[in-house]
This record gives sequence, C-alpha cells and structure tokens, in this order.
Amino acid sequence: MNIAIVGAGLAGLTAAFELRDSGHTVDVYEGGDRIGGKLYTVAFDGGPTDMGAEAFIARRPEAKQLVDELGLADSLVSPSGMRSLLYVDGETRAMPAGGVMGIPSTSEPVAHLVSEETARRIDEEGQREGFAWTVGGDMSVGALVRERYGDDVVDNIVSSLLGGVYSCTADDLGVRATVPQLAEEFDRLAADGPVHLSTAVANLEAARKKAAPSSGKPAPIFATFREGYQELYEALAEKSGANIYVDAFISAISCEGEGYRLKGGEDTVYDRVLLATPAPTTALLLRGIAPEAAETLRAVKLANSAVVGLRFATDEGLPENSGVLVGTDADDVHAKAFTLSSRKWPHLAERGGALVRASFGRYGDTVAMTASEDDLVDWALDDLQTITGFDGRAAGVEEIFVQRWFGGLPRYDETHLATVASVKDALADVPGVGVAGAWVAGVGVPAVIGNAREAARELV
Ligand SMILES: Cc1cc2nc3c(=O)[nH]c(=O)nc-3n(C[C@H](O)[C@H](O)[C@H](O)COP(=O)(O)OP(=O)(O)OC[C@H]3O[C@@H](n4cnc5c(N)ncnc54)[C@H](O)[C@@H]3O)c2cc1C
Repeated sequence: MNIAIVGAGLAGLTAAFELRDSGHTVDVYEGGDRIGGKLYTVAFDGGPTDMGAEAFIARRPEAKQLVDELGLADSLVSPSGMRSLLYVDGETRAMPAGGVMGIPSTSEPVAHLVSEETARRIDEEGQREGFAWTVGGDMSVGALVRERYGDDVVDNIVSSLLGGVYSCTADDLGVRATVPQLAEEFDRLAADGPVHLSTAVANLEAARKKAAPSSGKPAPIFATFREGYQELYEALAEKSGANIYVDAFISAISCEGEGYRLKGGEDTVYDRVLLATPAPTTALLLRGIAPEAAETLRAVKLANSAVVGLRFATDEGLPENSGVLVGTDADDVHAKAFTLSSRKWPHLAERGGALVRASFGRYGDTVAMTASEDDLVDWALDDLQTITGFDGRAAGVEEIFVQRWFGGLPRYDETHLATVASVKDALADVPGVGVAGAWVAGVGVPAVIGNAREAARELV
C-alpha cells in the first residue's frame, strides 16, 4: 500500500516509525523547512537548547517505551527537583503543595495566595450545596473553581499552572480535557448526587498518598533529552525508513478512485492518508474528502505563544528555583512564565552560566503575535529582574533566541472532547483516512506518541 502522512511533527514522525516494518511505502509531507513541529532544538553556542517542548511526563509509559525502542534510553536526563514559584501581587511565593493542578481541598496550602474570605470559602465548600455534574460531561475549570472557591484561586493559582502547560487561562479549559482525573472523580461522586469540589480533590490526594512508595525517593515526574528533543525527532525520522519531504506544503486532498491525491505531494494516488497536522489545517485538508468532519473540526481554536531563550555569562543571583509562573492578574509584567532552565536541569547547569526561557501569550491575547522581537527580549529581561531580582543585562547576555508559536496549542475547552469524538465519528465513514496529533490526543508528548502509534495501526 501507498501511505501518505501529512505533518512531520511528533505525531507524523511517530506514525511513520510505527509503520517502519509494515511493508508499505510511507511518504511524509512537511510544509515547513524542518521536521519536529513543536519540538525544536536550536543550536545555541552553549549547546543544543529546546525552544518548543522542553520535557515530558516520565510517569506515563508511552514516551519512555518509544525512547527504549529507539535506543535512546541513555540520552534521558532528570530534573534537579528544585521547586517552582508563583508570582502574585508583586512578589514571588511558594507553589502550594498537594491539590490537583493548584486546586486545593482545604485553604491551608493556599492561605498565602488567597484572601481570608476565599480561604474561608474553600473550607466551607463542603457544607454548601454541591454542584450538578453530568457523568461523562465537561465544564470550564475556571467557571467551576470561581463558583466553588472564588476568583483568586483561579487567577493567582489555577490559571498560572494550567496556563504554563496550555497557553490558556482556566476559563478557556475544560475539566475533563485538561484535568481528567478530577472529571473521573466527579463522575464517581455524581452517582450519589450533587458533587463537592473539596471532596473530589481530597479523594484524589488520598489516592495519591496511598499509591506513593512507602520508602525511598519517588521517581522524577519529568524527563528530557540531554541533547534536546532533536535526538527524538531525528531518530524517529531516520529509523522510520519513510520518504520525508520538507518544504512540501499540502494544500488540498481529493478522492481518486478508491484512493487519495495530495495537492503539493508526489504525483501518485495514496491508499491511506494520515493527517498529523494542527486542527485548523486538518479541517481545511478534510474539506474535499470528509466535509462533515471538516466543518465540526473548525470549532477547535488555537492559542499563540512565544518563547525567548536567554543565555547569560553567570548564574550568580538567579534564584535556586526551577521556574516562576505568573498570576493572570499581574499587570506589572508581560511574561506568563519563566523556566530557569539551568536550575531545573543539571545537564544544562553543567554548561556554565545561566539559561532561562521566558514564555509569553495566552489564548485571546495578541502578545505573542504582535510584539516586536526587541520588545519580547526587553520584556523578558525586565520581567526576570522584576520577578526574581536577577539583572540579566548586568549578568551578561551571551545568546538570545526568539521563537513564536503561531497556533502553538489547541484550546482544550469544555467542548473539545465532544468535538474530537464527533470528528472521529464522521471519519469512520471515510475509508483510509486517519487523524493524529495534539488536538486528538491531548497536549503532552506521551499522549501524542500513544495516539499516533494507535492511529498508524488503525490506518493499516
Ligand atoms: C511552546 C511549547 C512548549 C511545549 N512544552 C511541552 C512540554 O514541555 N512537554 C510536553 O509534553 N508537551 C509540550 N508541548 C506540547 C507538544 O510539543 C505538542 O503537543 C506536540 O509536539 C504536538 O505534536 P503534533 O505532531 O501533534 O503537532 P505539530 O508539532 O504542530 O506538528 C504538525 C506538523 O504539521 C506541519 N504542517 C501543518 N500544515 C501542513 C500542511 N498543510 N502540509 C504539510 N505539513 C503541514 C507543521 O509544519 C508541523 O511540523 C509544548 C508546546 C509548545 C508550543
């Protein structure tokens, strides 16, 4: 069979690798001038440095298993374990312990981050009437937590934590789409009637405590590649054995007999097509072959963001923390988060000096798209000093890299999962066409890997 994969990001390359021994011809089309998509390792003078994704959750099996199959296990490194901070009301404060994505079960861990009134409200939530939860359904994280606990829990804590991962505030994210374990606990509790947020979070905390090893240090939650994500995407490309075409933008797909022809691709008819492209592109490409799925998929919107990578001559004065997340109410800074990369990752600290990533942009704001590069760099340096006291200019800026991520991540709102299910339903009637990637799978690297492998197997 002739198989076309559109998109050489993580999903497309993983699918190609999955098909490596299938005996089929696999052509991968990448519209950009490089492979990797949102995985992008830049050759800093100090060493390879990631300007897109920078880590993955090591406790999920999918990424580690793939890394083993690629023979890259020795490339994996662990973080230092230094804690992150929150920037709220003009000062850095400790990240709350426990809870689920910053949502607490009592006021105690967040008392330094919320008003006394909110603290009381959190502790009394269990005595108020519960909220109605539809089993299997979803609702906005922001709306839910605002109603149960109060605005400052969302603006100072939950939106900062979720925003660091999803480039959206909690108001633009669904519970099931982004904190699925909480949605599952709501499902369980809803069988007995209205649900309390504090009860659900307490139950999850108890389950986590029970599952924790009784002795020894728990395994690190995150991992990354010593030489950056290029190790992964280059190995996938090479070991897939697929024909990979870069600068090959596919602008339309049409049916031809029982197969498909790609506009912008080789002059051939494909028996199978896997679209491993962001949602809006996928919707455009499906127009000619699956109009119903295309129309449904148009509902998925994307969040833009920008990353500024900065390398300094010295790390003197940089706090001993792995990063800082900025509360959404902060109006004295532009950045939404800083990763103090050379504190977070010992292998980066070994290079000497300091490496910092500043992140900008949340869904609905235009910062990442409209700000000039000079402004982004100035804000990164100014905000780093405002938040941490570290004067980057005095420390000596040795390298700067600005990476804008137009449509970096899908907005996983409370309708997202239903939209994905409808698209998949509509595609069930279109033989030989599959979809994969972050909008189908969920945001994280392990989820995208698992989804792409499954999609590749289903395709053949
Ligand atoms: C700034 C940032 C930081 C992140 N950090 C992390 C992290 O630390 N950990 C983590 O687990 N996840 C992280 N993520 C998320 C993770 O990187 C993504 O979910 C994942 O890489 C998405 O892979 P994908 O293959 O689905 O999509 P993409 O990487 O978007 O790949 C799609 C590819 O399709 C190509 N394409 C689009 N249209 C066409 C066309 N018409 N023809 C041909 N090719 C086309 C694109 O150029 C692109 O290469 C981060 C994301 C961003 C943006």
